[in-house]
Amino acid sequence: MPLKILEPLYKKIDTINGFGPHTANKFEKLCGVRYLDIIFHLPNSLIKRILIEDLHDLYLFKRIIIKGEIKKTWSSYKKPKISIATLEVNNQHLDIIYFNVNKPWFHKNFVKEHEIIISGELSKKGNKWQIIHPDYVYEGNSNLNIPIYETLYPLTSGLTHKKIKKAIIESHKALPNFNEWINIELLKQNNWNTLNESLHKLHFPNNIKDTNNTNIYRERIAYDEALARQLALNLIRKYKYKSIQKSLNYNSKLKNKLIKKLPFQLTKDQNLVLVKIYKDLSSQERMFRLLQGDVGSGKTIVAFFAILHVVENGYQGALMTPTEILAYQHYKFFKKFEDYLNIKICLLTSKINKENKNNIINDIKNGKVNIVIGTHAIIQSNVIFKNLRLAIIDEQHKFGVYQRLELSKKSPNTDFLVMTATPIPRTLVLTDYGDMDISILYSKPKDRPIIKTISVSIPRIKEVINAIERAIKKNNQIFWVCPLVKDSESLDLAAAETRAKYLEKYFPNKVSLVHGQMNANEKEKSLSEFSNNEKPILVATTVIEVGIDIPNATIMIIEHAERFGLAQLHQLRGRVGRGTKESICILLYNQNIGNIARERLSVMRETNDGFIISEKDLKLRGAGEVLGTKQSGGQNFKVLDINMHEHLIHIANKEAKLIINKNPDLSGKLGENLKILLYLFDQDKAIKLINSG
Ligand code: ADP
Ligand code: MG
Repeated sequence: MPLKILEPLYKKIDTINGFGPHTANKFEKLCGVRYLDIIFHLPNSLIKRILIEDLHDLYLFKRIIIKGEIKKTWSSYKKPKISIATLEVNNQHLDIIYFNVNKPWFHKNFVKEHEIIISGELSKKGNKWQIIHPDYVYEGNSNLNIPIYETLYPLTSGLTHKKIKKAIIESHKALPNFNEWINIELLKQNNWNTLNESLHKLHFPNNIKDTNNTNIYRERIAYDEALARQLALNLIRKYKYKSIQKSLNYNSKLKNKLIKKLPFQLTKDQNLVLVKIYKDLSSQERMFRLLQGDVGSGKTIVAFFAILHVVENGYQGALMTPTEILAYQHYKFFKKFEDYLNIKICLLTSKINKENKNNIINDIKNGKVNIVIGTHAIIQSNVIFKNLRLAIIDEQHKFGVYQRLELSKKSPNTDFLVMTATPIPRTLVLTDYGDMDISILYSKPKDRPIIKTISVSIPRIKEVINAIERAIKKNNQIFWVCPLVKDSESLDLAAAETRAKYLEKYFPNKVSLVHGQMNANEKEKSLSEFSNNEKPILVATTVIEVGIDIPNATIMIIEHAERFGLAQLHQLRGRVGRGTKESICILLYNQNIGNIARERLSVMRETNDGFIISEKDLKLRGAGEVLGTKQSGGQNFKVLDINMHEHLIHIANKEAKLIINKNPDLSGKLGENLKILLYLFDQDKAIKLINSG
């Protein structure tokens, strides 16, 4: 239940006269249907009209308001349907022109010798003044005012400005008067107004000062949203660790054994990160840690050691991946050490046959299995662990804060480690991972060759074929990634199947194919033919984006590279250069590409550093896209713009920490106000933690 003061804002727009379910659906798509959603649907532009008394070239193409008397009306009988009313203004004539307008309506509104007041864009044809499709027409003696300033809103098809305006007006009426939650100093420093005033000025500006200050009003609201978010994250941080676990001993038998068997030494960063993780795991407080590392920085082995730490202390560990392919690959890697370490590791995905699955599930339940590897389904389904202590999510930026919160509630005695596929920009770490502790693998294992990146336009595809030929002669392997599985009628894109056939002509029996529409067996067969180099070319869709590790692969070809985002391109490129051989990434692109796509390709050519790429990515695209949360139920902001308001996020982060340290229960007057803020920006789930903690 919302707070009492906010009840009016939880009303839905279908309670407005003339707003049916159809309109509500449109609003749902646009911004939401509660008044609460609508007050934060801010205008994206502003019309300014000028009130004039006579016609003059000075006003040409401006939006004017003018009064005049109708001298003549006329409607065509044939197509095109035109209706014209001629106004007399100070001895000059002005034609009001409508195309395809309802004739009776026209003649009802435009009557000879009547005075009207009208607004629209002034134009001229020859030396005839005209306004085409005026935006307001009132009777001359009407007491309605045409607004001088008028806001325009982002629309969605099927919704008119009129409807949105009405919804804005109604929801604004419901806006209660709030007490201030931002501290006075900060308000003064930034010249911010109250929330109510800021909203009012943005939606209903009525003088030039209002329209010049839109940045300040907007900033104030963006800050509110940033603060709400940071408060919520800090509350989650504070309360979700509450469950007290048994502390672990520092038994290191298995880990030491594995170190001896590894063909390489852990890097300094890997060791540093692991020290932190062991400490977290051993303590009585729950771990919630984000491990960031660029592609190829060696996160998997970190995961393995972390899991061994709980296993050698008598607990179970799980490693979850976004795809089955990746689960299988991790499983194969871990499995190599199973006998040597004398532990039991199993793979659990939806594709495993029922009988096997039941056995595995039983063994997980009775504790025979120490490590489970599988897709996210593991801890969401009915699998019951005997004593799961550590769950590692090898994710592709797919979980939102509140999804993690749900997860943490379901496994209250489990430590969590989330590993990202590529680095996350600093600002997004604050807004989307602020509930966690952060570890970063900055460096990569040494001896990694640099991956050279070039872009080649499609007509030069033959050069690429030649490059493949040379690579195969040297016994190297090639990835070829396509955006689609099958040819599509609506999109002119290369499909994996077609491309595989094409390559088969040049390289008979050397092409293997994998995509998401194959079943697990087919996928596995294709992948293993490729990984043991029976077939040196793998044509694939982005199912191979994450994690696939084939050290012998030296060429990555990405077809229609202009279709992919930077993070994805970088992730795909990271599939080569994993051994010691020199590698190359070829971005095949369509010649007619836009500027942003072009810029992306050039970023790819210029740098191999995932941390730089993620920052650029954020600048080039919206945050929702970078994190991929738009589709997966993650959080989007209503007003806050990660690029524009970065500084506000940092301030909010500091403020929120201070507030939660001082007043973790959000008690007292300020606490009550802050709770309102959390509700306003839909961050109220965090409040429940206070009550239950
Ligand atoms: P990612 O961080 O992208 O998941 P992986 O864990 O798949 O990277 O590691 C990439 C490759 O580097 C693997 O082949 C892995 O065995 C290897 N690797 C990991 N750590 C080291 C190290 N310290 N020295 C050398 N190679 C390493
Ligand atoms: Mg990985």
